[in-house]
Amino acid sequence: MTDVLSDVPAGRRTSGPVRCEGLVRIYQSADIEVVALQGLDLHVEPGEMITVIGASGSGKSTLLNVLGGLDEPTAGVASVGGHDLTQMSMRQRNAYRRDVVGFVWQQTSRNLQPYLDARRNVEFPLAIGGHGRRSRRIRAEQLLDLVGMIDRADHRPSELSGGEQQRVAIAVALANHPQLLLADEPTGELDTATAVEVFDVLRRVNRELGVTGVIVTHDPLVSQQVDRTVAIRDGRISSEIVREGAGLDASRVIAREYSVLDSAGRLQLPERYVTQLDLRRRVRLELEPDHIGVWRDVEHDGALWAKPEPRDQEGQP
Ligand code: ADP
Ligand code: MG
Repeated sequence: MTDVLSDVPAGRRTSGPVRCEGLVRIYQSADIEVVALQGLDLHVEPGEMITVIGASGSGKSTLLNVLGGLDEPTAGVASVGGHDLTQMSMRQRNAYRRDVVGFVWQQTSRNLQPYLDARRNVEFPLAIGGHGRRSRRIRAEQLLDLVGMIDRADHRPSELSGGEQQRVAIAVALANHPQLLLADEPTGELDTATAVEVFDVLRRVNRELGVTGVIVTHDPLVSQQVDRTVAIRDGRISSEIVREGAGLDASRVIAREYSVLDSAGRLQLPERYVTQLDLRRRVRLELEPDHIGVWRDVEHDGALWAKPEPRDQEGQP
């Protein structure tokens, strides 16, 4: 690596761990309250890159906005590289967004300045960060090279394909040496082949710069390219998939799925187990020497659920 990149990050030095514990975000409008995150626990190791999956409305973007310093959690712990995201002044928040995180959005148009070519787009955040002309230029060229866009450096976004724009967007997000790279469905507007290519670039920057990454995606082909995928359901991490050999030929990848036990001892049973055993409001648990058995509450199921009592408008039986 040459000078400008080496003042940065060969490895873990600049990458930050992510820690969320009991994270809550409640959106309140005039008459309704939406609990977008309800006690979410998530740890990401320095230099690790994970993918986040989950149905629409499960809280993925809310989590990313909190980690990106764009939104403030209602309660709980959230920190990135030691920066406490729950206790920031406006000034600290702006500095955090400028220096600690890089963001790639789904909408290619949101990531780039339309009137600047690729090179100047990457230089833009560096100019705001007060870097000199020469170091801006060198850093921009190295990053464009890393994302495979050096040959297109003089093109404006409108002259680039969607996949090329997202590659440039990754370079822009990395310009200020962030500790954490966040991407919210960065390949959502791309066809599958292009999506896989863009994701390869994300993996390359993670590997070569050691930057920690949290990538939201709903594309299974993309999500399985990393060692760990977390699934969000109703504002909590419900399960984790851990892989050995991720990024290799799919037939050689060993993947295991775990349910996640939160700090309060709660876990979410996979939906298909619940459906298959017809589990309802409560279940019977039994502690065995090396596992816990979960049974349907046969005795009460019938009485409680077979025929709801008719109720009046106040909800009284
Ligand atoms: P996802 O990215 O997984 O689709 P979001 O994090 O965008 O989910 O949203 C989670 C929940 O919070 C949804 O029910 C959504 O409608 C709600 N929500 C998100 N942002 C706001 C907001 N600014 N105001 C009110 N509700 C919101
Ligand atoms: Mg979203």
